[in-house]
Amino acid sequence: MRAMVLEKPCSGSGSLPEGRQRRPLQLRDVPKPKSGKGQLLVRIATCAVCRTDLHIVDGELPDPKLPLIPGHQIVGYVEEIGAGVQSKIENRKSKFEIGDRIGIPWLGWTDGECVFCRSNRENLCDRAKFTGYNIDGGYAEFTVADARFCFHLPDEYNDVDVAPLLCAGMLGYRSYGKTGDARRLGIYGFGNAAHLIAQVAIYQSRKVFAFTRPGDKAGQESARSLGAVWAGGSDEMPPEKLDAAIIFAPVGALVPLALRALAKGGIVVCGGIHMSDISSFPYADLWGERAICSVANLTRRDGEEFLEIAPRVPMRTKTQTFPLEDANIALEKFRSGQINATAVLVINPDL
Ligand SMILES: [Zn+2]
Ligand SMILES: [Zn+2]
Repeated sequence: MRAMVLEKPCSGSGSLPEGRQRRPLQLRDVPKPKSGKGQLLVRIATCAVCRTDLHIVDGELPDPKLPLIPGHQIVGYVEEIGAGVQSKIENRKSKFEIGDRIGIPWLGWTDGECVFCRSNRENLCDRAKFTGYNIDGGYAEFTVADARFCFHLPDEYNDVDVAPLLCAGMLGYRSYGKTGDARRLGIYGFGNAAHLIAQVAIYQSRKVFAFTRPGDKAGQESARSLGAVWAGGSDEMPPEKLDAAIIFAPVGALVPLALRALAKGGIVVCGGIHMSDISSFPYADLWGERAICSVANLTRRDGEEFLEIAPRVPMRTKTQTFPLEDANIALEKFRSGQINATAVLVINPDL
């Protein structure tokens, strides 16, 4: 089968000399995987590109499996069911049959027995494995996945539009959950996750304040057209104090800024897997029971809840498609901010 393979992460994300293109992934013909115990063999239809994929190919996340097939927002069709699948999932409402459309997310495997798994915090599992990082992912024609971590997908979406829900949506939703019942919600970094989560927040009658790169008038306009009550640069203070702020941009300098925009008792939620260092700030900015937290990965419950709410909003995704062999182009455009949508690799377009 065809796959885009990372053989060695690039060093650093700095820009290359003019005219030279970064080609971190190689198009390879690799053996089609076989479904092992508890696994589904899946023919991949689409796979959305996530910022985490960039962090992995740029070497910003430690020790990926190598060689690696990246990609963890996978939409595909069950082609083969491994031994023991039905018995493993009989306690859950979902079962999988040949031909079912399923989604494969970032969280690919947990041990089910550590202190975190046993307390509904499988996202923190000590031995967790992640799709497209420790196990091969979706920049390929086929993959295998542990059936316990796969989702049925809402019929309202086609194979392209549903793909961004699998990470930008689900992880964004977990970040959103950390804001409790905040009425005034700031969102820093108005990219894919923000675009999706703002729709849920507005659907739930929260007031959304959108913070973009200073001077990004187009981004601010798009946030307002989505229903944000205010949009401005991340260096600006909102017109009223916030009950919570979510930071989706991987920029540590935003943390003290967001903290300063909070009302007492407010929380700053850092929604990314990687962030540059956070500069120091006066304790007075944290005083008043303000809090800062990070969000790590997702649980299956987050995913199920999110996929239930998405069609009710109804949440719209913005996508731009690329063929599998153009994965490097998609990554490069994403890195340099040249796409105003989620890049989605279309792998088996005839499905
Ligand atoms: Zn565990
Ligand atoms: Zn992701």
